[in-house]
This record gives sequence, structure tokens and C-alpha cells, in this order.
Amino acid sequence: MKKKIVIIGGGIIGLCTAYYLNEKGHNVTIVDKSDMNSGTSYVNAGYLSPSHLIPLASPDSLKNGLKWMFDSKSPLYIKPRFNLSLLNWMYAFAKSSSNSHVNKSIPLIKDITLLSQKLYDEIKQKSDFNFHYDKKGLLMLCKSQKYLDSESKLVDIAVSNGLKAKMVTKSDLKKIEPNIKIDAIGGSYFKCDFHTTPNEFMSDMKKYLKSNGVKIITNTKITDINIKNGIIKNINSFDNKIYADEFVLCAGSWSNLLAKKLNLKLLLQAGKGYSINILDKTNITTPAILSEAKVAVTPMNGFTRIAGTMEIAGINKNISKERVDTIVNLSKNYYPELNIKSTDINNVSSGLRPVSPDGLPYIGRSSKCDNLIIATGHAMMGWSMATATGLIVSEILEDKKLSLNIQSYSPDRKF
Ligand SMILES: Cc1cc2nc3c(=O)[nH]c(=O)nc-3n(C[C@H](O)[C@H](O)[C@H](O)COP(=O)(O)OP(=O)(O)OC[C@H]3O[C@@H](n4cnc5c(N)ncnc54)[C@H](O)[C@@H]3O)c2cc1C
Repeated sequence: MKKKIVIIGGGIIGLCTAYYLNEKGHNVTIVDKSDMNSGTSYVNAGYLSPSHLIPLASPDSLKNGLKWMFDSKSPLYIKPRFNLSLLNWMYAFAKSSSNSHVNKSIPLIKDITLLSQKLYDEIKQKSDFNFHYDKKGLLMLCKSQKYLDSESKLVDIAVSNGLKAKMVTKSDLKKIEPNIKIDAIGGSYFKCDFHTTPNEFMSDMKKYLKSNGVKIITNTKITDINIKNGIIKNINSFDNKIYADEFVLCAGSWSNLLAKKLNLKLLLQAGKGYSINILDKTNITTPAILSEAKVAVTPMNGFTRIAGTMEIAGINKNISKERVDTIVNLSKNYYPELNIKSTDINNVSSGLRPVSPDGLPYIGRSSKCDNLIIATGHAMMGWSMATATGLIVSEILEDKKLSLNIQSYSPDRKF
């Protein structure tokens, strides 16, 4: 039976969900509070990364997190403040940061990211999609033996999971990037990873959805959800009531605010990241993460993007000059010839990653509500997991056999 479905949030997760629901013939509307031209899904590093097998919640991130937490220049910064939802999130993060959680998460992350890559391939083959999509892999550049050793362990894990990855020496780096100097002692090379130029994908997808009958309503904030006997009757914007058979909540870092209206406690924090586009030619051809600095460098279509930091400081898009300068200086530290103009730096943008405390997304129905599916909390992996998330949501909605086991993604899971 074809249904009327309203998707709240038109970031990458909302668009991919609309794509698969539309393919199955449903009547789909996306509602977004913004003009849908900027934000997290536009400023990210564009990686499709099965290599990131270790979830955000791990013994190493807990150790580093505690060390870095209150240092405003560090890759992970938690702004000190008394806030109950932050304290609950931190407690759940600490509890989830165990080896058993890491071991359980590795196959889950592998399956959802590989399925996503396959689906991006399928989409790219359609004549309506011209977005930049490259399969050059991802380098992890290391300046210290300590990080090189830790990369070597990650390569072993990747290879034992069937992914293409290897360690590379300083002279290998020269062959991979012959036209720009890299100051690193070596690194790892995950050939399994792909990359894109995010705004091109978003733009192609919006155009495709509109021309295939999906209604997109922008600048409309959903402020309330009316629920009766476990069923959403309608959702409200400032001056309108919106009715549908089913609703999908893909509101990124804002999802928990709407989930509250359903009495659903969705632990979620906004993890701010910054992104700078270098418009002059850089000669960088292969994406790289600067391991010690946790900065991502991506050669995109027509520019090179440097992106980084995870700043847990509430919902705001404020730009910290100190953190932007840190990203710029760290990038130059690894690529000494990199010329980053002040105009590029002044055009820095920020985005909020929706971060769950265990580093796994929330995908599925909640027991609080029969006609709502939740798809959020993908943190630093939303781009890598988006197409599979959209497909799975469409399968849940149609009560079909699921392409992946989603038990660990339950929005009702306890931490
Ligand atoms: C610097 C940076 C680099 C990153 N790099 C990568 C990467 O290389 N690879 C990767 O896999 N991931 C990466 N990510 C993460 C990825 O970008 C996110 O996980 C993903 O974009 C989240 O998508 P989303 O659709 O859930 O949220 P969003 O893109 O935030 O979309 C949510 C939408 O909901 C709308 N909304 C919110 N509340 C309401 C409301 N009440 N009513 C109506 N609309 C509402 C918002 O306006 C927004 O458009 C990166 C993120 C950052 C910040």
C-alpha cells in the first residue's frame, strides 16, 4: 500500500531516505527548517569510509578524550558546563567505551558502510547524477612511531575483515603524492575508501527528488508533534499542521529535541566541526587524515577541503578562531608547501554532527510511537552510512526483510 510519508530534516539522511521511499512509489514530503543549502551535510569531508571500523566510543577515545577534553585546541573538546543531558551522554559514552563494544561494532560498521558504497555506486550510474565520486582510498599520515604502531593495528583489523589496506613508508608517500611535500614518517593506506564532493551530491539528489515528485518544503521548522494512543496525528510548524501516515525523524543534531515531545530520551550531542575550502590548486590528489592532528584533507572538485575538530559545546554554529587557526597550522605542519589564503580561512564554515554516545546511529522504530521511524546519530559517519540508512528505513516502513540487522541501532537501546 502506498503511503503519505513526511520526513523531518533534509540533510543527507533525509534525502537518501526520500530517495528509497520515492523509488518504492510512496508519496514523500521533506520538511526542513533551513533553506537546505548549507550545514553538516554540505561541509563534511566527503569520505565514504569503511576503514573507520572502530566506533567513536572505544577505550582509546575515552583515554584521549579525558586528556583532551578541556583543552580548547584539542581534536575533541567538551565545553565545561552543567547540563543534565550532557552528563547523561558522557556517562553513556564512558560506559560504552569498552573492548567488547568495539568488537561488537566492527562488523556492524563494516556492513553498513560497504552497503552504502554499493548504493552510492548504483546512484552514480543513473544519468541524473553527475556528482564527483572518486575511489582513490584514504591515507592516514603519521609523524610519530606511536601513531604508526596504532595505524598498523588498524590495518590488521581492516585486512582481517576483508578490507583493502596496507602500511606505507615515507618513500611510498612520495610516489602516491609526487607533487606536494608531505612531512610524515609514513602511514597507512585504506584503498577501500572512496570520496565525494558533498554539495554536488546534495544538489543532484535534491534536483532528482523534485523532478520525481518528492515535495520539499524549506524554511519550515517543526515545533511540535501531536501524538495520541502511540500514533502521531500530525506535526506542527509555526502556522501549519502537517498530516501523514508515517513520519521519519532525520533532524540531525536537533532530533533529540523533537524526540522529547514523544517522551523518548534520545541521547545525542552536537559535535561541531569546521571546514575550510582551499581554492588555489594544492597538488593533493589523495584524501588524507593527519593522524595526530585528526584533520581531514580532501581533494574535491575544484578545491581542497580541510576539515576537523569535534567540539561538544551545545547547539550553535559559532566559529572559534583559535580552533580554526589550529586546523590551518596543523595542516601546514604535514603539508609544508600548502598555501592557505586568508580569504579561504575567513570563509570557514561549521557543521554539527549528531553524536550518539556509543558511536552507532539510531535507526528504527521506537516503542513510544507506531508511525515514526528514527534515523539519526551517525556522528562522523553520516556521509558513509547515508544510502544504506535510507534503504533500511524504506524496508522498515514496508515491513520488508531488512538488508542489515539493525538490533544494535534501536532508538530504545539502553546504555
Ligand atoms: C567537519 C565535518 C566533517 C565530516 N566528515 C565526514 C566524512 O568525511 N564522512 C562521513 O561519513 N561523515 C562525515 N561527517 C559527518 C556527516 O556530515 C554527518 O553525520 C551527516 O551530515 C549528518 O546528516 P543528517 O542528515 O543526520 O544531519 P544534518 O545534515 O544536520 O541534517 C539535519 C536537517 O534537519 C533539519 N532540522 C533540524 N531540526 C528541524 C526541525 N525542528 N524542523 C525541520 N527541520 C529540522 C536541519 O535544518 C538539517 O537540514 C562530517 C561532519 C563534519 C561536521
